[in-house]
Amino acid sequence: MFGFEPHLEFARNLDQKDVLGHYRNAFHIPTDISGNEWLYFTGNSLGLQPKTTKAAINQELNDWANLGVEGHLEAKNPWMPYHEFLTESMAKIVGAKPIEIVVMNTLTVNLHFLMASFYSPTEKRYKILIESDAFPSDRYAVQSQLEFHGYNPETCLSEWTPRTGETLLHMKDLETILDEQGEEIALILIGGVNYYTGQSFDLKQIAEMGHAKGCKVGIDLAHGAGNIQPDLHKSGVDFAAWCTYKYLNAGPGSLGAVFVHERYAHDRNLKRFTGWWSQNKNTRFDMRKPLDLMPGAEGWQLSNPPILSMAAIKASLDLFNEVGMDALRQKSIQLTSYLEYHINNLNNPNVEIISPKDPMQRGCQLSIRIKNTDKILHEKLTKNNVISDWREPGVIRFAPVPFYNSFEDVFRMITILKTLLK
Ligand SMILES: *Cc1c(COP(=O)(O)O)cnc(C)c1O
Repeated sequence: MFGFEPHLEFARNLDQKDVLGHYRNAFHIPTDISGNEWLYFTGNSLGLQPKTTKAAINQELNDWANLGVEGHLEAKNPWMPYHEFLTESMAKIVGAKPIEIVVMNTLTVNLHFLMASFYSPTEKRYKILIESDAFPSDRYAVQSQLEFHGYNPETCLSEWTPRTGETLLHMKDLETILDEQGEEIALILIGGVNYYTGQSFDLKQIAEMGHAKGCKVGIDLAHGAGNIQPDLHKSGVDFAAWCTYKYLNAGPGSLGAVFVHERYAHDRNLKRFTGWWSQNKNTRFDMRKPLDLMPGAEGWQLSNPPILSMAAIKASLDLFNEVGMDALRQKSIQLTSYLEYHINNLNNPNVEIISPKDPMQRGCQLSIRIKNTDKILHEKLTKNNVISDWREPGVIRFAPVPFYNSFEDVFRMITILKTLLK
């Protein structure tokens, strides 16, 4: 489709023509002790630091030093409404309306708070459906929700599994599960982009299929936010949650974000756990008023949030706002296809891409299964400045990130991989 060629000049030429190429300079690229830049392919695990992050955090440290508690109202970016500064950019990234978005807590915590609202088992409808390769934290979270409500995960956790001998999931099989168990399933919770295979799903289709059977539908977008364009509002899913330290480059352990569909914005009957930040901001500080819920996703907040972490998120979202997901996704498709081209060109029967071939069914990550090798290959890659990640058994995940990875990064990584595979 792209007419790639295998030599270094071609990669450099692509970089020269890349309208986003200069954004690499907006990030700190880690180096080895001699100052050689790492070939960093783990933005799916921890995104790199924007150069603007430090100043953004320092701003809040200085305002705290100079203003103390007055910073809540008097800081350059007042802390009291600070989370509101993030909402619009975050909404754009995932295709949501601002009222559907709030940045708060961390991902697994948010999954629990959202399940408090969207997993309400009844005698007839009590199961949770996940994909069999769900991220462990999500699996533990839903298992504990089932147990919390008195259900046995052994029998009440349903799994959407790949067919025998396959790795990817088929929509058709989800349909079959829903035909068979749909009436018993209370909640479908799926990773919008699977962390292991990189497979991305048609969220609208999942929402429609789930809703047709009366199930609630939630999406974990940890590997989707800032990577694909999930169009959350239009997809119609009930809720979604994600973190900001992967493709959103907001720093280790940074806060998560949630989406709650607009149809619940004024629904006061949904059960939820609340705190003073759930309270209507106009009367929040009267302190003695009965709870008057904030409309929209903000009504799921409990606590006043950590501003230092939010400052890092703001610095990163400002960059996303400047570039826009359309441009990032466009480059991403080309960059990942370029990686795919080179992997296929290895012509090595031991090397197999397990991620979908169709760019519309994946984000930037390619998961590569390498036979007849072990973790030593990964260690050697690391010694050669290639930062990737290894998942047992024998899968290396490479995530070329359009914001800061170059075509030359991919070319140089492949050259090293080729040598190591010999
Ligand atoms: C990264 C990731 C997590 C991590 O959860 P935290 O609560 O942020 O530690 C959970 N689920 C998925 C699918 C992930 O990719």
